[in-house]
Parts: sequence; structure tokens; C-alpha cells
Amino acid sequence: MLPDGEDISENSAAHQLAEKIDRDGPISLGEYMAVANAAYYAGGDPLGKDGDFITAPEISQMFGEMIGIWIADIWLRKGKPGHCHYVELGPGRGTLAQDALRTMAKFGCDPMVHFVETSPALKSKQSELYPDAVWHDEITTLPDDGPLLIVANEFFDALPVEQFVATQAGWRRHMVARDRNKFIAIAGTKSVGDQISKSMTDLPIGTILESSPISVNILSEVANRLAKQGGVMLIIDYGYDEPGTGSTLQAVKDHLPISPFDSPGTSDLTAHVDFHTLANVARTRLLDVHGPTEQGQWLKAIGIDQRANSLRELVPDQSEAIRAAHHRLTHIDEMGRLFRVMAATSMDWPEPEGFVYADDEENV
Ligand code: SAH
Repeated sequence: MLPDGEDISENSAAHQLAEKIDRDGPISLGEYMAVANAAYYAGGDPLGKDGDFITAPEISQMFGEMIGIWIADIWLRKGKPGHCHYVELGPGRGTLAQDALRTMAKFGCDPMVHFVETSPALKSKQSELYPDAVWHDEITTLPDDGPLLIVANEFFDALPVEQFVATQAGWRRHMVARDRNKFIAIAGTKSVGDQISKSMTDLPIGTILESSPISVNILSEVANRLAKQGGVMLIIDYGYDEPGTGSTLQAVKDHLPISPFDSPGTSDLTAHVDFHTLANVARTRLLDVHGPTEQGQWLKAIGIDQRANSLRELVPDQSEAIRAAHHRLTHIDEMGRLFRVMAATSMDWPEPEGFVYADDEENV
């Protein structure tokens, strides 16, 4: 439903969606989410205290610094290969890139910078920090020479998901229809049973299964390149490690949850990331997968406690703010457990730091 007094014709994403539905009939949830989020991110900078949501790099410089240290470490152990490309997917304000690249430079790791970003507003913000970066609307235009150092923080959760619902009549796609001034989710009329894996077919009526074909396509393309060119990829996001059921679609506006069908294009629409599927895609491209593990555990394993302590000594008047940021990034009741960290490396690159391996566990 649109907020009181707001007409569909005054909200361009809502207007575009309504027109399409009136013309062609209900659209898939993925299509709805794609239009809504493209309008949302194009509209301005949604990040930070004054925006709709805050991300880890915006909480503290420590987050990007840890990612920078992690990349520099594996790059050094690989023997400092030249002609590397730093690639960030959905870099937001560019804060993570700035903190990571500054840290990497201290170790002599100074790659070319590529940003995959579709929002004109955020591109212009990123260009204030990195005027010489190369921007890409799609993965397909990334360079095909030299190893890739790829980072994606809170990128995959912004990509569209499709949902399938178990009905009396069998599996149906969740579609978005229009009911006067409102958007509503309905079960589609076509059977989609052939798209549901055999192990899931007996689930109770009302069960929802989610999938993100766009995420799978993007990861497949990235993984193909990593396998050919060498390098690493780091994905950090909230999500699930094992296949699950239920809708994880959510909308956030002014730091508060609202209905995903309220006022599309004016709230951040996200879904939990299916790490299980992403890991499998990477493995089929013969990449080594590490994690997913908890963000808090990973940050501690690569030294965030030490970094927080040295920062507190450097700027004692910020000591309490640094302690609070460290807590927020690492504690299990804050971002420490909900957020997962997964890496994929090409077979010829060393094992990355921060992940617990079976051998280490035996040695504990
Ligand atoms: N990584 C940043 C921003 C996260 S918000 C941070 O942690 O602060 C999601 C980012 O992904 C934004 O930069 C948004 O514009 C971008 N984005 C969303 N959908 C995209 C798409 N389909 N292709 C490229 N970028 C996209």
C-alpha cells in the first residue's frame, strides 16, 4: 500500500510497476524487486545514520582495514603478483574501498580499481574518492587479464529473489499483482513443480522456497574469471549456510522494517543470501571455498581486537566510540553472528586467513 495520500502516479517506481501489471498481468517477485531497487539506489545515498540503513564499513574504518589486511596477506603469500585488479561489487559510498586500499598500499599491494555499480548517485559519490576507478554496470566488462581481488559487502542481499509457494494445486511462483492502490503477493497460475528439487516436493501447503537466479548468474561469471585469471573473492552478508524454507524478503526505511509492498522504490528491499548455493556454484568452477563463518569470529581471527586497541591508544578521546564499533561489528548479538563471511580462491592461490580448517580443529 502507498502511504496515506500518496498516489501511484507520484511514485515513479510504483507507477512503472502498476503500468506493467495493468498491461501484462501480475509480474514475478524478482521483477518487482529489480524495478523497486533500481529506483531506490538511483534515487540517492541510502547509507548512514541519516539514511535508511548503516553498513559495517560505515560503522568503523576497522572493517575495511581488516579486509585490506586479509587481501594484502594472501597477495604477499602468493608472491606479490603484478597487474592485479581490485574489484568491488556494490561499493556504496566507497568507504570500504578507501579503508581496504589504504591498508593494502602499506604492504605494496596497489591494484587497479574497478567498481561494479548501477546507481548514478553512488557512482558519483565513489568518484569523489576514486576519480580514476573504472566503473562497470555488469560483471561481463571486467578485465580479463591479471588476478582479481574481489570484495562484495552487503551486495548479494540487494539482488532480486524469486519465491515459490506450495499450494493445494502444486508449486506456484509468487507473483505481484495490483489491488487498486495496493501491491499484493499472489500465487501464480502456472505450475512450476519442475523447478523444485525432488527433496522439497512434499513440503506442507504454504511453504515458501526462495532462490536468486541473478545472484547465481553473477557468481558464475565471477567464478569463471577467478578460475581463469586467479585470485580471491570475499563475500560478506547476512544469510543462511544450509538450504531452508520461508520468506526472507524484507524492506527497511529510516532504519525501521516496513512491508516490502509499501511504496516500492523508497525502501531498501533485501533478502537473506543463500550461501549454500553460492558455495556450490563456486565449487563447480573448481574454486576452493572457505567458510561461511561468522563475521565476528573472522574479524577476530585476523586481528580486529589488536587494531581496536591500537586505535584507542592513538585517539584516546575516541576510545568509547571505537569500543562500541568493535562491539557492534563482532558481538554475536549484533552483527557478529548474523553476518557471514565466505571466500573463494582459485586453486593456484594460498589458503586465506580467518577460516577454521578441519586440521586446525584437530590441533585445538
Ligand atoms: N557495499 C556497500 C554498499 C551496500 S548497499 C557497503 O557495505 O556500505 C548495496 C550496493 O549495491 C549499493 O552500492 C547499490 O547501488 C549496489 N547495487 C544494488 N544492486 C546492484 C546491481 N544489480 N548491480 C550493481 N550494483 C548494485
